[in-house]
Amino acid sequence: MAPRGPAPRPRHIRELLDAGEPMFSFEFFPPRTPQAQERLWRAIREIEALGPAFVSVTYGAGGSTRGLTVETTERIATDTTLLPVAHMTLVDHSVAELRHLVGRLADAGVSNMLAVRGDPPGDPDGEWISHPQGLTYAEELVRLIKDSGDFCVGVAAFPFKHPRSADVETDTDHFVRKCEAGADYAITQMFFDPEDYLRLRDRVAARGCEVPIIPEVFPVVRTSFIPRSEQLSGAPFPADLAERFASFGDDAESVRAFGIEHAQRMCERLLAEGAPGIHFITSNRSTATRQIYREVSGHRSPSEGAGRP
Ligand code: FAD
Repeated sequence: MAPRGPAPRPRHIRELLDAGEPMFSFEFFPPRTPQAQERLWRAIREIEALGPAFVSVTYGAGGSTRGLTVETTERIATDTTLLPVAHMTLVDHSVAELRHLVGRLADAGVSNMLAVRGDPPGDPDGEWISHPQGLTYAEELVRLIKDSGDFCVGVAAFPFKHPRSADVETDTDHFVRKCEAGADYAITQMFFDPEDYLRLRDRVAARGCEVPIIPEVFPVVRTSFIPRSEQLSGAPFPADLAERFASFGDDAESVRAFGIEHAQRMCERLLAEGAPGIHFITSNRSTATRQIYREVSGHRSPSEGAGRP
């Protein structure tokens, strides 16, 4: 009898979600320098040893890192046991270029994508201008990818509403349209109060939409991350939490310990409330997220099936 090898890598995130087990995933961004590349691959290998459900690689708003996103995602698909998700954006891309990108990723065995619109390069709050032969909303990218083959497509969700949306109700309507266009799952923008996630989930459910929404968790390990998180998410950081962080002053170790503890408590609450999993932003360093992952996942090793059905 042939020896039993490792379980085959699942093809789609949807299969993992359907299995109903809490799933843990990690997000990286494309490295700009050889040193950053080395650090990223160290983090990827450390995360690989944990057997997460999937890892994703963000797509730059423009310029040189875009090629790196594709190369990194391809390398994860071919040189690791991880299931990669490629982020894709509409920024400065014609429909023909988007189709080419989908084809290139498919050639490398990538069949999971996260379809987001992206922000205007240079000034994320600037005017959105579509490429003359491109698309305007993420909803259209979902359709383009879905029409291109057997792909599993995720979309972005905003617990606090997208900064460009007039109000949460309109934001929810647009989110549901993306789901109706064929999205299989969603990943949220970062947030720091679990109630924000629960309110989003209730709003979406009230519209009869059952697409699973995976909460994104960003452990704050430095106080400088607080204004950065507001910039990235367009949402205010909770004032009481900011005060707790401020109370540690220059004590970097205590800030880090409190940030990890807060993120861990948030993960535990989200999972207890039935969130399908946790998507960690790693900042390409895995120490804090690995620590939280170990606590909230019960230290399961890949052979015990952590993150996999
Ligand atoms: P859309 O869903 O197109 O929405 C954009 C705005 O238009 C919203 O205000 C929405 O309410 C509105 N809208 C949507 N549909 C319609 C419609 N039919 N009519 C009128 N208004 C409409 N950015 C990157 O550059 N690279 C990344 O890799 C990346 N990854 C991300 C991952 C996650 C999990 C998240 C949450 C965000 C990510 N982003 C990334 C940021 C994202 O690109 C921006 O937040 C962007 O501004 C919104 O993208 P979207 O896909 O939600 O856009």
